[in-house]
Amino acid sequence: MTCAILAPTMKKTCPRCQKRVSERAARCRGCGYFFPEKASPWAAGPAYGVGFPLVLMGVFILFLAGSSTGLTIVGAEMTLVGALAFFHPR
Ligand SMILES: [Zn+2]
Repeated sequence: MTCAILAPTMKKTCPRCQKRVSERAARCRGCGYFFPEKASPWAAGPAYGVGFPLVLMGVFILFLAGSSTGLTIVGAEMTLVGALAFFHPR
């Protein structure tokens, strides 16, 4: 997804000292504020927002595919990509 690609260049504002820090920073470099969204594995958002639905869709397509080879490949790929996103390491 594009948000994962853009993330390294994005900035967020520290709620405590208003310093601009990297979107990927877990702590503010100015005052040491700990950003709570980085406390969960891989910000939880991408994993549950993209990975889980992809796995569900992939399994659903595999279920519907039956003997159709093309649909089976699409379903397997969606399940694989979804699982990779869902179980992405920190
Ligand atoms: Zn700060």
